[in-house]
Amino acid sequence: MEAIEFIWFNGKLVPWKEAKIHVLTHSLHYGSAAFEGIRAYSTDKGPAVFRLEEHVNRLFKSFSAFKKEIPFSREQITEAIKETIRANKLEECYIRPLVYHGGDNYDTMGINPTKAPVEVVIATWPWGAYLGKDVLKVKLSKYIRIHPESTVADAKITGHYVNSILSSLDAKEANCDEALLLDYKGYIAEGPGENIFIVKNKKLATPKLGTILPGITRKSVITIAKDLGYETEEKDLALEELLDADEAFFCGTAVEIAGISHVEGKVIGKNENAGKIGEITAQIKKEYLNAVHGKNKKYEKWLTYIR
Ligand code: PMP
Repeated sequence: MEAIEFIWFNGKLVPWKEAKIHVLTHSLHYGSAAFEGIRAYSTDKGPAVFRLEEHVNRLFKSFSAFKKEIPFSREQITEAIKETIRANKLEECYIRPLVYHGGDNYDTMGINPTKAPVEVVIATWPWGAYLGKDVLKVKLSKYIRIHPESTVADAKITGHYVNSILSSLDAKEANCDEALLLDYKGYIAEGPGENIFIVKNKKLATPKLGTILPGITRKSVITIAKDLGYETEEKDLALEELLDADEAFFCGTAVEIAGISHVEGKVIGKNENAGKIGEITAQIKKEYLNAVHGKNKKYEKWLTYIR
């Protein structure tokens, strides 16, 4: 593991090993934190963070579920992210901001976090291909995606990720690369940490918003696809449509764009394309990687250069 020098901790950069918390941290017990997953990529003009403003906005929106203020402004968090990447001299990295309920005594250990202090950390590290493969074997999870009336389902809240962890473990146990979760109505929702698209007759479809995390990559893919001449329908997507698709892929900040070769052992795609990364998927992936690396002027507005 490469040594990273600093973590931004409540307003200042501290040495990596000193970024520690107390065991009575409220969020450690109850999952009462919001977080983000962001990437910075190398470009001709130095490192650039992809869609930083959207990620910071989603962080604030996610944490607002707890009805508490974050003790830093959006501008301060944005600046802190840039400062952390610069301090760690990273050309490309994954960025993990976390806003959590702290605490170091039992006065703040009740479930209601009102009295617990709000703390913020930003860690950065080099993180290559998240699932390490171009195409993925997918298992339909025995767990459904969290119900939108059980929680604020479109917030990126740490506690929600037990749902993702369990489905991911379940998929690994079945020798699959990733899980796919259905929603409470039985339609396709998303992966544990990524959104899903299908391609059929040169048209894209993806689950509509409501039970899924509104992915920033998902939004970028819809724009890129449109610019390439492909329409995307956001709708209730049945499992049969996935199984019958010409192509399918996952997308997310960590995974970027990854093709889906199999679902429940059934191969996706037909004839010589079966089980391979689809043609349109590959085209979108190429455009996406060009965009994040600043190679397409049209999408330069999505980049925040840090130098
Ligand atoms: N769904 C879930 C459950 C996720 O955790 C993520 C990763 N943040 C995504 C979708 C993809 O979101 P994004 O494209 O914003 O990374």
